[in-house]
Amino acid sequence: MATNPVDTRVIVVGAINVDFVIATVRLPGPGETVVGPRVDRHGGGKGANAAVAAARAGASVELIGAAGADDTGDGALTDLRDDGVDVGAVVRTDAPTGVALIVVDQAGENQIAVGAGANAELTAEQVRDSLTDLRPGDCVLISTEIPGAAVLAAVETAAAAGARCVVNPAPPIPEIADAVQYGPILTPNAGECLELAGMLGADSDTVEEAATALSEATGSAVVVTLGGDGLLVGIPGHGVERIPARAATVRDTTGAGDTFNGVFAARLAAGDTTNAAATVANVAAAMSVSYVGARTGMPTWDQISATSR
Ligand code: ATP
Repeated sequence: MATNPVDTRVIVVGAINVDFVIATVRLPGPGETVVGPRVDRHGGGKGANAAVAAARAGASVELIGAAGADDTGDGALTDLRDDGVDVGAVVRTDAPTGVALIVVDQAGENQIAVGAGANAELTAEQVRDSLTDLRPGDCVLISTEIPGAAVLAAVETAAAAGARCVVNPAPPIPEIADAVQYGPILTPNAGECLELAGMLGADSDTVEEAATALSEATGSAVVVTLGGDGLLVGIPGHGVERIPARAATVRDTTGAGDTFNGVFAARLAAGDTTNAAATVANVAAAMSVSYVGARTGMPTWDQISATSR
């Protein structure tokens, strides 16, 4: 396994949320109130979570996004700083910080409502202004819980700078159809892969066919995350290859995709090939599911290296 160089930069463009989690005996029905004993607060948002995963994996990480000029936003940014993420480019807005309200019942089933808040205010211009010093070795990781115009601006700017670009299309948004011409590496899960292939006009019956269609559209690799089944890596001209999941004791899979994306971007920035980066990120994501909470189990580089040996 490659050693971890110090001068690797990952720039994450994506959402910053705070998750409020209430454990209840059962989920509320329409119009019903169900009371749980505690409220747990966790840092969330796919952008912020992936930034933490990349930082723990040893990359220098800068996060571009938006948070409210409120106490919730202060807390979210403090948590990110504590994990070594540079939040200097985060825009503070009058709109409140994005919030996810999560209710979990005794069986682990959940209901989630997200208020995008400040995330919906991030503009294409703010993204371009924050990406002026990109270097060819950098890896820009973009997730799509922010306005489509901001996503597209990030992909275009990364391509113009010759930086590596990874787009986690969660959720798939129409702007991805425009973004594919810039050749980003896409990292959908199985459902997102099929949906995106359909959006691009491909007629795919299987995830393998959909992944092939996406890699043909981008001319770049596609890495499909398959939960407990691991990964599917599609390389243009080389078909698709399965990488099985690493065995794990599963306690909570929340944030497994964010862990995968953050570590994948960190390893690409470190100079790994797509296959090598995906293999390391697959190990890191499996490590993360043994802990409750999206960020709790995100491993450090030392932990990843020790496990991969
Ligand atoms: P989320 O949005 O909840 O983070 P996702 O749908 O984006 O999830 P998944 O495909 O569920 O992402 O998981 C991402 C990666 O995490 C998988 O490709 C795999 O590497 C790892 N992973 C997830 N679940 C398991 C599991 N049960 N055992 C081992 N590894 C897992």
